[in-house]
Amino acid sequence: MEYLKGLNAPQKEAVEHTDGPLMIIAGAGSGKTRVLTYRIAHLIYSKGVDPFQILSLTFTNKAAAEMKHRIEKLIGLEARNTWMGTFHSTFAKILRVEAPKLGYTSNFTIYDTDDSKSLVRTIVKELRLDDKVYKPAAVLSRISGAKNRLISWEAYLEDPYIKADDEAAMKPRVGDIYKMYQQRLFRSGAMDFDDLLFNTNVLFRDHPDVLNKYQQRFRYVMVDEFQDTNLSQYLITKKLAAVHQNICVVGDDAQSIYAFRGADIQNILNFESDYPDLKVVKLEQNYRSTRHIVEAANSIIAKNKRQLDKHVWTANDKGDLVALMKASSDNEEGRLVATTIFEERNNKKLANSDFAILYRTNSQSRALEEALRKMNLPYKIVGGLSFYQRKEIKDLMAYLRFTVNSEDEEAFKRIINFPKRGIGDTSVEKIMVAAYEHDIPLWEVLSNASHFLSGRAANSTSDFATLIKSFRIEAERKDAYETAKKVAQQSGLLKELYEDKTIEGLNRYENVQELLNAIKEYVDNEENTDKSLGAFLQEIALLTDNDRDKDQSDAVTMMTIHASKGLEFKQVFVVGLEEDLFPSQMMMQSREDLEEERRLFYVATTRAMEKLYLTYALTRYRYGRLLQCEPSRFLDEIDPNCLQVSKRASTAPMGALRGEGLGSEGQNGYVGIKKKPLQRSGTTAKIHTPSPDFKPSNTQNLQEGDRVEHPKFGFGTVQKIEVEGLNRKASITFENFGEKTLLLSFAKLRIL
Ligand code: ATP
Ligand code: MG
Repeated sequence: MEYLKGLNAPQKEAVEHTDGPLMIIAGAGSGKTRVLTYRIAHLIYSKGVDPFQILSLTFTNKAAAEMKHRIEKLIGLEARNTWMGTFHSTFAKILRVEAPKLGYTSNFTIYDTDDSKSLVRTIVKELRLDDKVYKPAAVLSRISGAKNRLISWEAYLEDPYIKADDEAAMKPRVGDIYKMYQQRLFRSGAMDFDDLLFNTNVLFRDHPDVLNKYQQRFRYVMVDEFQDTNLSQYLITKKLAAVHQNICVVGDDAQSIYAFRGADIQNILNFESDYPDLKVVKLEQNYRSTRHIVEAANSIIAKNKRQLDKHVWTANDKGDLVALMKASSDNEEGRLVATTIFEERNNKKLANSDFAILYRTNSQSRALEEALRKMNLPYKIVGGLSFYQRKEIKDLMAYLRFTVNSEDEEAFKRIINFPKRGIGDTSVEKIMVAAYEHDIPLWEVLSNASHFLSGRAANSTSDFATLIKSFRIEAERKDAYETAKKVAQQSGLLKELYEDKTIEGLNRYENVQELLNAIKEYVDNEENTDKSLGAFLQEIALLTDNDRDKDQSDAVTMMTIHASKGLEFKQVFVVGLEEDLFPSQMMMQSREDLEEERRLFYVATTRAMEKLYLTYALTRYRYGRLLQCEPSRFLDEIDPNCLQVSKRASTAPMGALRGEGLGSEGQNGYVGIKKKPLQRSGTTAKIHTPSPDFKPSNTQNLQEGDRVEHPKFGFGTVQKIEVEGLNRKASITFENFGEKTLLLSFAKLRIL
């Protein structure tokens, strides 16, 4: 076969092993995704498998689209018919057909994180719990963790270990919130993201006929980025493949970076015991990067204890050394990156899209953006506050959602009095309570408003119901675009925005038009056979963060490392390599956490094809304060033979960097324990156990920048020494306790 020539021996072996379980465990850039692509082409082209019978699960929808595109190139249009997408989008499609078996309608709503948070907030309020303890995000992450391990609320409430854990976290009522949360979702005809997988598991467990149907349909199942699947996902895949056993999973344990969302490397190990006649293929040759980059990445990951044995190598040229660049501040770091991109682009005739800037957290993008803008470098941010999270877009989407599913409480709350129609909070509350107390659907209350409300509120509510009914009739007869256009106009949304003549108002108006354009595009696209509003809404709800950016022409890509998985760029900047930022302050509670951070660093460095830059700043604004930073420990772990300390290193004197001067807090010394801005939220930092050789040092010569150990607070860095009267004081930032100011005549410190 001509196309098989593009593969090396083990890759070819994996492609040609079509029947029976197969696991490809391979290093970064070794062609895992390429093997999957060729394997699908091979199944269709050489083995005559019907494309409809092949299911591939990818990390983003964009990755799926790209794979389809490549397969099309290899074998032609037939490729279009394979099933390909993320776990969530694939099984949402299946649930859309099967939901009635679970007591949902096909038009169930998919709640996004905002909807879920809002619902949790409501429940916390109803239970009269303290919302400072029961923060929606924290509660949701516990609920989500349970769902990903397939623990229902019933099981959650009964489990003594979970109970103990919630109590230790000072959140004993999470189980009750979980219960109400699920009941309310169900009543609203809504599922959250985790439910899509949880309910698929329930569906397959309780309806063997349905399971059997899909087992027969998907004769071949493939999973990319297998190291980041959670238990819920793993079980779905396993069940689907149980009959034909033609399952192929592809992953790299060294790139597992979603443990915080319940992903489990253990799945790789389980896989071997679940399939005794499993064939395992290792790919170790990296085709993506220069040798210096591969060796640098290898030296990083070698520091992790927990990993499978493999050796990644490359036949590529050595290439440039990895550039290490120091900046005096975060703004200076931005300038350094922007000027380097500008020069490299011009000198090497590269496109903007050949460059990527990767950071640990989204908030780092600001300084970088400013610098890029100043240099007139076009950029796009993947996964930032996206189009679909803007208020005006959410408003219109809520109208559309409510049109399709009039039990959707979160959508209802958004639109019942927007644009204003004289239905105040009290009336809204009354409507919700009426539905709840009478145990009738929300819609029934709305269409009989005069029974539950009086006066103007009753009339307005009736009008609202009539309006929605007219939208619903439109939705039944017309396609998504025609319906949405009508909704935008007749709901009064467009008018409201049109009348706002400020620049922001204009932008919002244009955004709504842009959404209508997107719906038109969806309807016009031949690949979308179902053009109904319901189908469109589902499609949108399932876009992952990475998919949401509209493809811009030629732009520098900026994103978090988490979002960069599987991608490659000629030149990559990994920025903010500072202690407490990367590795993150929040991820240093245990060895496992630190290893996950290190894997994240490995993922970041292995995105680069030709040139890798690592940058750090000596000071950075975080939490509204100017902090002194130390270079990341990860920098010390890189094989120095691959590194070059860049001559660009900034020499600007510290303090004179920003022009703004130090924050006021930085200037006023005070004694005592400061607020702990750096402490991991929601948990109490553990009191440190002193090293065995702990002995207090003489602190007479203690200096700014010294690393110290404190018997209780652990390790930290001296930020400042001050003398006030007879007292010498040191401000020290401790890794787990934040900043404290200690009197040196009392403090027991070991200087490291
Ligand atoms: P990651 O771990 O980052 O997901 P991966 O293992 O999936 O990486 P791919 O993205 O499939 O790796 O491949 C990395 C690069 O190497 C791609 O540009 C791919 O086209 C190229 N490549 C892979 N195998 C070969 C080969 N046999 N010949 C030429 N190029 C190859
Ligand atoms: Mg890949």
